Formats: sequence, structure tokens, C-alpha cells
Amino acid sequence: MMILSGKPVFGGIARGKLFYFQPDENEVTKRLVKDTRLELEKYNAAKEHVIEELDKLYHTAIDKVGENEAAIFIIHKMILDDNAFRTSIHERILDDHFSADYAVAQTARDLAQKMFGVGSDYIRERAADIKDVCDRLIRHIQNKNEKLIELNEKVILCADELMPSETMQLDLSNVLAIITRYGSSNSHTAILARTMNIPAIIGIGADKLSMLRGMEAIVDGYNGALYIEPDENALRRLSQLEEAEAKKREMLKRFKGRKNITLDGTEIEVFANIAGLNDLKYALENDAGGIGLFRSEFLYLGRTQMPDEDEQFYNYRQVLERMGGRKVIIRTMDAGADKNIKSFGLAKEENPALGVRSIRLCLLRPDMFKTQLRALLRASVYGDLAIMLPLITAAEEIHRAKKLIEEAKDQLRAKGQAFREDIKVGIMVETPAAVLMSDDFAQEVDFFSIGTNDLEQYIMALDRQNLTLESYYEDPTHEPLLRAMRFTCDNAHKHGIPVGICGELGADLDLTEEFLKMGIDEISVTPSQVLPLRQRIRSLRIDNRKQLFDPAALKA
Ligand code: PEP
Ligand code: MG
Repeated sequence: MMILSGKPVFGGIARGKLFYFQPDENEVTKRLVKDTRLELEKYNAAKEHVIEELDKLYHTAIDKVGENEAAIFIIHKMILDDNAFRTSIHERILDDHFSADYAVAQTARDLAQKMFGVGSDYIRERAADIKDVCDRLIRHIQNKNEKLIELNEKVILCADELMPSETMQLDLSNVLAIITRYGSSNSHTAILARTMNIPAIIGIGADKLSMLRGMEAIVDGYNGALYIEPDENALRRLSQLEEAEAKKREMLKRFKGRKNITLDGTEIEVFANIAGLNDLKYALENDAGGIGLFRSEFLYLGRTQMPDEDEQFYNYRQVLERMGGRKVIIRTMDAGADKNIKSFGLAKEENPALGVRSIRLCLLRPDMFKTQLRALLRASVYGDLAIMLPLITAAEEIHRAKKLIEEAKDQLRAKGQAFREDIKVGIMVETPAAVLMSDDFAQEVDFFSIGTNDLEQYIMALDRQNLTLESYYEDPTHEPLLRAMRFTCDNAHKHGIPVGICGELGADLDLTEEFLKMGIDEISVTPSQVLPLRQRIRSLRIDNRKQLFDPAALKA
């Protein structure tokens, strides 16, 4: 038996075979060649392979998803035959003496850059298609096989690192547990694992992970231990632990249907965070009072084409209907940084966490943003929906987003489609700028929700993805963050709007008392944390809670 340890991200015991995933990286370096003819031949051979591959994909797609969706592969073949595309690659090989893979990569980059600033969603989607085709070409030039995470049986998924887009391509029902060598507890893959009740460990400090593929193992997600080929003793101990945890979970069920109220009568809302329809069952099972954060960008992740208005509408409507009148806060698309959406064809950035992401990206692509806003507005008649704007740093962003909401409303009116005129619009407070401007912003919007994951990252100048810096996040006092939160709460309440927390720290039971004292009105956590948080709130006595927003108004 061998035991590896790391940082637990989500508790639970899982037994199964280790499956090691290594993503395909198209590494292309600049290389000049003498024999340009040979290089051109390499390109032509790769092109033939890609055409064969696309034909196969087209026929499989017709069977799986129908002719309309399959047509994308015809478009990809057309790109290969496009004059400008072909000429660009030929010139780079024959005139510039670039190697074939570098010529393709340069062509992809130039075309994507030209298309990036264009206002039409259609053109931008084509940019993503070009990238896809070029990736295929490069893979063949470099003689690499396509890597997809295909899971045909239930496994413990191991990887050096998992990106949210990769996680979204997985059939998560076949993932018993997630183990990564890197990653951090605030990364979106970790958040996803928690939301879906998948035991997860990060930072398993072993370069041997890849060598362990196929071995039998047990994951102890409570203590962050991975037992390889466990012995009888370990098996016995872990089943005892599993039993004890099951008892605790059973005991927590007593809190279902109860209020989130302190011993001295302070009541707040406890909501759940979800990333999509699949997570809704966990929110309902755990008796969440509402959805405090629907990370809508997960609808876009891991796909080659963006969901259209109707698909988005269907998803939002389902959430609202299944929440049966309870509040649902849907955050508009918060893409970028670690949530890289391939179909956007975004240029590579030096500092993606500070780059074209989130609301910035939406404002640069108003057509795409309005598609989402129309879908949200149409869904608003099916329940109690509020729209939340992420990563706000300036009043101008709020004004522009609100203007686009009004334009989306006009478009629906013109088509005679129903929506709630008085839909509430709030912002995430997750940048130091939003904290400092909270006095002003509170006069512009209907509510605040504090995104502690990003707020802490930006206040502390700490990359939330960086495992080496994890200990900074473990500071139990979180004092700089708490000061920013108190300041935000005071400003919100001064102008009569409620404040929630939707970052991971909301589930830190050692801080619940602090949060209640500063006057937080709602806390939204991973579904499995709803009942532990309720239990904690019910055990507290809050003597000096700050002036409160009326919780009844939160439901209004
Ligand atoms: C946050 O930043 O705290 C947050 C809730 O949003 P995300 O984790 O999706 O960035
Ligand atoms: Mg955030």
C-alpha cells in the first residue's frame, strides 16, 4: 500500500481505479526550414488526414445530434479550402520559410485577431472554427492523436491540472473522485467538485501520478489522503469513517425546513451556488432557500458553439420553475481567466485574471451579451429572477450593462415576448474598486453579492489558482478581506440594499459569526454546505449585529 496526501477540497470516500488524464498541448515553436517543398508536403498530408477526420465526425454527428448540428464539420472542411486561408499558409511556408505547424499557427492567430474586433457573433464563431481546424492540422503535422477524456467506466480521475472546460467535457457521472497535482481550493474545478458532491484532493505532491494509472485506490476526501492498493487495515478504517460521516449527514437532515435564525432571533437567507441544471437537485435536496449564484458561463464551457438564446432560456426557465418561486440570482457570463471558452477565440493574455474577462468581455461583445440578456428576461416570468453582473469596477460598466438590458427589453417588446419589467439587477463586489466605490454603486443597483474568491485574490494580490500560495488563503482571520466586507455592508445598508456572500468563504463556519455581525443578509454556498451553515447560524447569539436590511425585502 502507498499513501499520498494532498489538500482536501471536498469530503467523501471513493473506491475505484485510477484514470490519469493528460491534456493535449499544441506546442508550436518558431522554426525556419530550408526544404520548403517538404514542409508543404507535410502540410498537404495533414490536410488530407483532417478531411478524413472531419468526414467521420460529420457522419457520427448526424447520428448523434442531427444534420443541423453536424453541418459544423462541413464548415470546417470549407475553411480548409478557403482561398485566403490556403494562401496564407502557403506563403508562410514558401516565402517566409516557416515550418508547417508554425505557418498554420501564425495563420490561425492572424485571422483570429482580425475577426476578434468584429461586432458580429457569426464572424467570431467562425474565428473559433478556424482555431479548431488549425489545432487539428497542427496535431496531424506533429503526429499527435486527439485527446478526449473518454470515460467508459467509473474511475478516480487524476490529472496534473484540470481546466473547467475539460471538466465540462466529462461524463461526471463516471467520476468517483478528482485528484490533481496542482490546482487550488478556490479554482473552478475544485468549486465544481464541491457543487457536485465529488470527493476531491488537490496538491497531491507526486510526480508519480501518471505511473499509477489503472491501480486500485481509495480516496479519503475528508483528510486529503489517497491510498494506492489499500490494505485490510486501511479499508476497515475508511469504512468506519464513511459510516461516521453518513451518520453526520443523516443528523443534518433534521435542519431541513428550519429557519436560518440565531438564538437571539437574527434571521438571514442561506442559498446555494450552482453551475447548471444538473446541480439543481443538490440545491433542492439540501433545502436551499434560493440560488444565490448560478454561474451561467458553465453553459458555454467545453463546447465548440455557443448556446443560442432558446437553449439559454430553457436552462434559466427550468431553474426558476424547479425552484418554485424561491429567489434565483443568475450571474451573467463570467468567462475568461481560468474559464477559457474555446469558441470565443480569445487572444492569449499575459495576465488573464486581469484581462478581457467577465463583464469586460460582455461589453466588448454586446450582441452575444444581449442574447443572454434576452434569454434571462424571457425566463423572468417563470419565477423570482435577479440578474447579477460580475467583476464590476466602474459605474460606467453598470450604466452600459443596464442600457443593454433596456435594449434587450425593447427587442422583446417588439416581438411581443413577455418579461418582468421590474427585474432586479445587482452586482458582484469582487474587486477592490467595487469595495471602494460601494457607496456610489449601492445607489445604482438593487443588491450586492460579495465574491470572496476574487475579492481576496485582488485585495491580497494573490493568484487564486496558485497552489504554492494556498497558505495565505488559510489565514483564519482574513482581516483585510473582512474589513473590505464590513465597509461594503455599511455602504449597502446606508442606501437600503441587501448584501450577500457567494464566494467559498461563505461556507467557513468559523467566520459565520463575523458575517452576521457585519450585517450580511444572505450567504450562498455549495449545496452540501447549506445545512451545516444553517446548523451553525442556529447555534449563535449575535449581540452587536450592525443595522440590518429587512430580510423580508430580500424576498420581495
Ligand atoms: C467569487 O469570485 O467569489 C465568485 C463567487 O465567483 P467565481 O468563483 O465564479 O469567480
Ligand atoms: Mg469571481
